[in-house]
Amino acid sequence: MKLDVNNISKYFGEGSNRKKAIEGISFSISSGEFKTLVGSSGSGKSTILRIIAGLESPSKGNVKVDGKIVSGPGLDRGMVFQKYSLFPWLTASENIAFGMNLNSYKLKEIKYRTSYLLEVVGLQDSGNKYPKELSGGMQQRVAIARALATNPKILLLDEPFGALDLQIRESMQKFLYELWKKTSLTVLLITHDIEEALALSQQICILAPNPGRIIKEVKVDLQKGDLDKLKLDSDFAKLRYELSDFLRGLQKNK
Ligand code: ADP
Ligand code: MG
Repeated sequence: MKLDVNNISKYFGEGSNRKKAIEGISFSISSGEFKTLVGSSGSGKSTILRIIAGLESPSKGNVKVDGKIVSGPGLDRGMVFQKYSLFPWLTASENIAFGMNLNSYKLKEIKYRTSYLLEVVGLQDSGNKYPKELSGGMQQRVAIARALATNPKILLLDEPFGALDLQIRESMQKFLYELWKKTSLTVLLITHDIEEALALSQQICILAPNPGRIIKEVKVDLQKGDLDKLKLDSDFAKLRYELSDFLRGLQKNK
C-alpha cells in the first residue's frame, strides 16, 4: 500500500500556549518501500507517526493510504511503540490476539495466526509467558507480532529498539530487515540512530526541530544483504559520517 503525507502541520495548545509541533511535512512511501525518519528529540517524529496512524489529526494537510484520506486508526496500519506497550496482564499469545479479538476474528483463525506469528518472531516457546517474564527484545518482538496480527500492509515503528541494549538492538534490526524482505510490507521507521536508518532503509528523511520539518532527504543506494558486512563497508561508513556530521550541525544551531 502506498502512503502519502501531504503538507501536514500540527499545533498543540491554545492561545498564548499554542505551539507549532510540525510544519509542512510531505513525503510518500511507495508500496513495499522502507523509509526512515531521523531527528533529535522533540523534532515531531512521534507526532507525524501518530497522525499517520490516525491517533491524532493534523491541523493542516492530510495523509492518504492508497489515495484515501486517513480519518482514524485502521487495520491497514500496524503500529509499534518504543516500550511498555504490551498489556502486562495478558500473555504473549493474548497480546498478539488482542486486535483479532477486537475485530471479531474466528477463534480458529486467532489460534492459527497467533501460533504462526509467534513462530515468525521466533517466540514459539514463549506464548504463555507474561511480558515481565520476557527480555526487552522479546517484548518488542511480541509487539511487532501484535502489530502484524490483523495483517496490515503498512508497519509504523516509533523508535522500537531505542530502549534495547546494543547487541539486542542489532539482532532486532536484522529481524526487522529480514521480515521486511520476506513480506511486501510498506515500512516507516522512526529512529535517532543514523546507523540503524542507513542499515535498514531505502530512503531517509531528516527532521529539524522548532517546528519539526524535513530538511534533508537521502536515498540510500547501498548494496544490502548481510547487515554485519554492510556496516563495515566504506560507502556505508562515509554516508554514516556525513549524516552524523549533518545532524551534529543541526544540534549546534539550535
Ligand atoms: P519526537 O518524537 O521527535 O521526540 P514529538 O512528536 O513527541 O517529538 O514532539 C514534538 C513537539 O510537540 C514537542 O515540542 C512536544 O513537546 C510537542 N507535543 C507533542 N505531543 C504533544 C501534546 N499532546 N501536547 C502538547 N505538546 C505536544
Ligand atoms: Mg518520539
